[in-house]
Amino acid sequence: MGYGTVTPILGELWRFHVSSFTDPEKCGPYLVDLEEYKWNGECGCQDFIKKKTQLEAGAVRSRWLQCKHIREAKRVVFEWERDGVKWWEL
Ligand SMILES: [Zn+2]
Repeated sequence: MGYGTVTPILGELWRFHVSSFTDPEKCGPYLVDLEEYKWNGECGCQDFIKKKTQLEAGAVRSRWLQCKHIREAKRVVFEWERDGVKWWEL
C-alpha cells in the first residue's frame, strides 16, 4: 500500500501497530492508541514511559508528550483521511 509502517488493527478504531524506526527486526511493532489521554495518544515503546508519567500526573496533551510512533500514526491517519482511504477497513 505504500503507507509505511502504520497498520490499523481491524475492529479496534484508533489503535495501530507501528513498526520500530530503528530496529524493526528486534523491536516492536508498538501498539499505539490515538484516543488515549484525551487524544494525546499512547504507545508501548520505551520513550513513551516518561511521557506517560507526566500525562498521568495531569499534563495536557502536547506534541512533546507524543513519541515518534504516535506522531507517525497521526501523520498517516491524516493522509488517509485526506485521500479518502477507508483506513478502518484496511
Ligand atoms: Zn512510541
